[in-house]
Amino acid sequence: MPYSRQSLAKRDAKDPLGAFRDEFILPRGVIYLDGNSLGAMPKAAMARSQELVSQEWGQDLITSWNRHGWFDLPTRLGDKLADLIGAKNGEVLITDSTGINLYKLLSMALDLRPGRKVILMEGSNFPTDNYMAQGLARQLDRGHEIRFAERENMAVQITPEVAVVALTQVHYKTGAMFDMEAITQMAHKAGALICWDLCHSAGALPVDLAGANADFAVGCSYKFLNGGPGAPAFLYVAKRHQGKATQPLSGWWSHADPFAFERDYRPAGDIHQMLSGTQPILSLTVMECGLDMMLRADMDAIRQKSMALGDVFIGLMAAHCAGSGFALASHPSAQERGSQVSFTHPHGYAIMQALIDQGVIGDFRAPDILRFGLTPLYTRYVDIWGAVEAIKTVMDQNLWQDPRYARRARVT
Ligand SMILES: *Cc1c(COP(=O)(O)O)cnc(C)c1O
Repeated sequence: MPYSRQSLAKRDAKDPLGAFRDEFILPRGVIYLDGNSLGAMPKAAMARSQELVSQEWGQDLITSWNRHGWFDLPTRLGDKLADLIGAKNGEVLITDSTGINLYKLLSMALDLRPGRKVILMEGSNFPTDNYMAQGLARQLDRGHEIRFAERENMAVQITPEVAVVALTQVHYKTGAMFDMEAITQMAHKAGALICWDLCHSAGALPVDLAGANADFAVGCSYKFLNGGPGAPAFLYVAKRHQGKATQPLSGWWSHADPFAFERDYRPAGDIHQMLSGTQPILSLTVMECGLDMMLRADMDAIRQKSMALGDVFIGLMAAHCAGSGFALASHPSAQERGSQVSFTHPHGYAIMQALIDQGVIGDFRAPDILRFGLTPLYTRYVDIWGAVEAIKTVMDQNLWQDPRYARRARVT
């Protein structure tokens, strides 16, 4: 036995990130391993939303656009997030959704590479990225093609026809990681641009967009950044590309002078050019609570703990649940994994439902993946012990065979 409950409790006691757990609302009796889908709620978000709704909206009404800086939220929060992903001030916005931001950036990238017709993507990526690229190609109707490849043979697909390579650094199902710097270099060598999706990277591991010389990036704020359900996403445009092409959703917030109310469009020359229109101020404001907490945490410590949590999970599953039919779907080496551990099982859906009833929340990704997110700010080592104990109970007692666990809910 590599680990005991007691030895894991000792690791928690010495954990340099241990104090952050107290800053979250976490339901009693629940082991939450789904922070890679919806991050837990920072306690600060409660007071902030109350103040926002009762004072800023309720009392100060429209004057809040100036008085409380609502209009500048996308750039002000973007500058904060920039520190987490290796970007500079003026290169990041918090706005819209990941999918919409990707649409805008890919369109811009294609305009910057007019002679090239291929968008290179990963077929097994989270589908919205691929759907958005397909929608864009249809809309442009200029003969663009989406070329799909998988991780193992991505590099050889970066050929001179490729205009832009659009990849997610950490795979949403398996947690497999791309070497951002190496792939970016390959893309540039072939004359292509690159757009990184950081949905499963931001707040989960150190990211250095400038160091990798990336062109564009997008990502969620409601996963590892704990921004809140449906909180706006982020986008990044390297300074060198700003003002060099326009984006297609050219609403008034992206105009060079929005309050001049001119008849014709004139794009802003800086990062504002990537905005579209009026932002969801309630969720945009509240997402700052999760962001501020993340900025206080040491990202290297987060990565170290995330890797250790994953190793413990994999080790305990091998020790306690071998023979139950699980197969590791994530890389066995922590260096090659994002902040999650996934297993395949032919009865994965029912097992996950039974597990949730035992108070351990992960999620299921079709066709057969049980996914467990590791969020070092609030996941303890003993939680991993508790999770594996519950998995063992579900399997040993055949709890998953209850017919009610076979019925698929709308959201898995
Ligand atoms: C979670 C996730 C998204 C979510 O996109 P939305 O626009 O917020 O619906 C997109 N891409 C990837 C890779 C994701 O993991």
